[in-house]
Amino acid sequence: MSAIRASGFGVAELPTIVRGRGSCLYDADGKRYLDGSGGPAVFSVGHAHPEVNAAIIRQLEDVAYGYRYLYTSAALEQLSATVLGLCGGEYEHIVFSGSGSEAVESALKMALQHFAARGLQHKRHFIARRRSWHGNTLGALSVSGFAQRRKSFEGSLLDVSFIAAANTFRPPVGVAAEALTQVLAAELEQTILARGPETVAAFIFEPIVGAAGGVVPAPEGYAAAMQAVCRRHDVLMIADEVMCGSGRSGTWRTLAHDGVVADIMAVAKGLAGGYIPLAATLCTTQVAAPIMSEHGAFQTGHTFSGHTTACAAGVAVQALIAREQLIERVRLRGAEWQSALRAALAGFDEVGDVRGRGFFIGIEFVADRVSKAPFPRERALSFDIGARAFRDGLICYPCAGNVDGESGDTIILAPPYNASDAELEEILGKLTTAVADALVRQL
Ligand code: PLP
Repeated sequence: MSAIRASGFGVAELPTIVRGRGSCLYDADGKRYLDGSGGPAVFSVGHAHPEVNAAIIRQLEDVAYGYRYLYTSAALEQLSATVLGLCGGEYEHIVFSGSGSEAVESALKMALQHFAARGLQHKRHFIARRRSWHGNTLGALSVSGFAQRRKSFEGSLLDVSFIAAANTFRPPVGVAAEALTQVLAAELEQTILARGPETVAAFIFEPIVGAAGGVVPAPEGYAAAMQAVCRRHDVLMIADEVMCGSGRSGTWRTLAHDGVVADIMAVAKGLAGGYIPLAATLCTTQVAAPIMSEHGAFQTGHTFSGHTTACAAGVAVQALIAREQLIERVRLRGAEWQSALRAALAGFDEVGDVRGRGFFIGIEFVADRVSKAPFPRERALSFDIGARAFRDGLICYPCAGNVDGESGDTIILAPPYNASDAELEEILGKLTTAVADALVRQL
């Protein structure tokens, strides 16, 4: 065991990881952990896949990395073409980076650069949503509606307007679930008008909220309604698909489900499946054209942008997903698995909601089913469940604070796309046991 204190899963000391195989990880004591959440929704094709490892080794043997100002590479070109193709030709430009935060940062900067290139330098303001998470860098944190994670940095964050999340389980007080989209689109429009459309650059949102909400898909029609408002006021729409995208929710682009193309999109976690850090920001020709004609390039690169070996890992991961038709599996099997989970947890009054799409499922716990009141924060229910599951050899992703930034308990399940049916069953069984144990209930 390591001497490093754990902060997330409620265990006193972190075990030392030594090996991964498929959907499982093994620590130094030989204990097996089934990865029911792909870590934080990252490991899209499981651990130590021989094809991905071989591609990485091949690339390292040729050259680890060609600096982007001096070279392009087959891996970079191939991954760019693959990802643009997977997006159905809706995007023409792609900028790589090394983390979800950087991809969001690039998205924000692309929006600003777009308006600067059009001579609209005063369009600087961002609108984001409460109960959202976009990353840890100051720009990405500024647009994140996550009180706990912002607290230490308040005062140095950008001035951002926050509007309500699109959560049918917890709609704003007095708003019926059916009226949610209309009310939220009106709120966006009022916020743009109050601020002055000439000052607003972009609206950023997660098509399916991840850690800040415990997997919250927006209602049907929401993305299209928000986009219509943005278009009316020359405001760009940024989709943060860092967690929900790259196939996790059953379509490569999450918003493909909604028939909507955001002006700018960020992807990360599942793109190279956790083998090497890799993220990307994509934008449409309309966003890029003024930038290219005025500035010639996006002003948002990093030393390691488009790292050759990271791109080679991305190519191998995406090739595997395509060949084994894993996104289709995620879509079809995910729906069945979600129903099975709902049935397995139906006996617990404390399970308020089971939701999500594909292999991206959230379970929300409530102290009272009728009022949907959360458990007291001090109870730390989601971490209690996560810790019990972890001790029993299941990795899930507990999240706190989805109700008001402090209280609220959810568990995210996001297994590898190629987890077997038996593994999905085992995740379901172990999670149910952990829930029963935490709630002191017999199964
Ligand atoms: N955006 C979303 C939706 C995320 O879930 C995350 C991370 O959890 C980020 C951005 C930031 O990504 P990273 O932690 O790789 O910087």
